[in-house]
Amino acid sequence: MPRSRTPATAWLGLGGNVGDPVAAMAEALSRLDAHPDCAVSAVSRLYRTPPWGKTDQDWFFNSAAAIETTLGPHGLLDLCLEIERAMKRIRQERWGPRTLDMDILAYDDLPVHDDRLTLPHPRMLDRAFVLMPLADVAPSLVIGGSPVAAWLADADKAGIEIADEDRGWWKALRK
Ligand code: ATP
Ligand code: CA
Ligand code: CA
Repeated sequence: MPRSRTPATAWLGLGGNVGDPVAAMAEALSRLDAHPDCAVSAVSRLYRTPPWGKTDQDWFFNSAAAIETTLGPHGLLDLCLEIERAMKRIRQERWGPRTLDMDILAYDDLPVHDDRLTLPHPRMLDRAFVLMPLADVAPSLVIGGSPVAAWLADADKAGIEIADEDRGWWKALRK
């Protein structure tokens, strides 16, 4: 990572329910970690979660990660969307279009509100499938005036299961 700029910390939420979402998340995290401007500093346990919102679809796998990056928030969004597209394109041929979703949950304590990016992620506090993995890597991170662990304590966690306790799950799957 270049030393020209002090790295920011960003927290990402990952998920998928088509094809092999665990492999897609692992590859996405590996690609981020391999990028010269990003380093993955912490990864959550792996979760299996019931579909939220649109419930007539397969269960999801979800995870969260903390990264250090010298990219700005929009540059990081571009990278996440590029990785998503690459993974979706790979998977589209075999499995379908929604193998990987990768959202920026927060970027330092920077608020952003524009056409392309809203930070913190506007729907994260309603979603136990985001808060639970995020609490593994950033329980004290303050969002909307309260720490993630406090939001999680109040969230509806029904049905959410730990699929892998080992936070190295994404490295074990590395090719
Ligand atoms: P949700 O945002 O409710 O989780 P989604 O992840 O399924 O829904 P996408 O279709 O993946 O939505 O993303 C649509 C657009 O959302 C992206 O192209 C991006 O420009 C925008 N966006 C705004 N804020 C964020 C953020 N914090 N992280 C990622 N994308 C964001
Ligand atoms: Ca999302
Ligand atoms: Ca998204």
